[in-house]
Amino acid sequence: MMQRNVGLGPGEVALVGAGPGDVELLTLKALRLLQQADAVVYDRLVGEEILTLIPARAQRHDVGKRCGVKSLSQEAIGELLISLALQGKRVVRLKGGDPYVFGRGGEEALALQARGIRFVVVPGITAALGCAASSGIPLTHRGISRSVTLVTGHLQAEAQQSEQLFHGWQALVSGGHTLVFYMGLEQAAHIQQGLLRAGAEGSLPVALIIAGTMRHQQVVISSLSDLAQQAERLKGQTPVLILVGEVVRLREQLAQMGETLLSQVA
Ligand code: SAH
Repeated sequence: MMQRNVGLGPGEVALVGAGPGDVELLTLKALRLLQQADAVVYDRLVGEEILTLIPARAQRHDVGKRCGVKSLSQEAIGELLISLALQGKRVVRLKGGDPYVFGRGGEEALALQARGIRFVVVPGITAALGCAASSGIPLTHRGISRSVTLVTGHLQAEAQQSEQLFHGWQALVSGGHTLVFYMGLEQAAHIQQGLLRAGAEGSLPVALIIAGTMRHQQVVISSLSDLAQQAERLKGQTPVLILVGEVVRLREQLAQMGETLLSQVA
């Protein structure tokens, strides 16, 4: 691993979190490394405005799925990073949110390490944090929620079928707990069933946050019993984060002021 403030050298890779979308939520370190890059490899979640910060001289590699064109496989992305680094380029791998939160950054880091390529990881604001702030929903709150779990929606379908994994649902529904589902829109019916089956109340509030922190952010407030129906209505929207817990009720008090201030800042 490289030292704290040393720039990116030739043949080195930075796995950089680009944050949830709002360009101003990029870290100074992310911006500095981006400005030094000879090649930038990015995917679908990285905000358009952030892409404008890529230096004109840098090679751009879009490895995300857009308009139905298939994205590169994880293995191919790893190979691309390795080959760019072996060409002596300063490589920035720009990822939405944080590279180590459901971003497969760990896999890319392992691939680089296996080839002896030096890399650094720059954290980004993960969607849960960005969306909570921009939608007026504290993830924890004294007397309401003492813990937060970040869950991938993808695994829930498998968990549903397996009694062994079903225990996972029970751990998630304990009181005073906030759940944040990433990639959960398509699995919303499974999430709803799993949580209800494990004893969660149908009245538990749910927020679906679409394009959190971006100009076109939308927040849909619902309840666990209506989750599948709302998700069906929002089908095709992206990216969507599903937040479940009593803290969602605080939005009524907190959202308005926050949204007014944010629009003044913008
Ligand atoms: N590494 C990323 C997560 C990648 S998984 C991070 O740390 O945020 C992709 C999922 O993240 C999406 O399906 C969605 O659930 C969530 N997501 C990312 N950015 C988002 C945003 N701006 N608004 C809502 N959800 C977002």
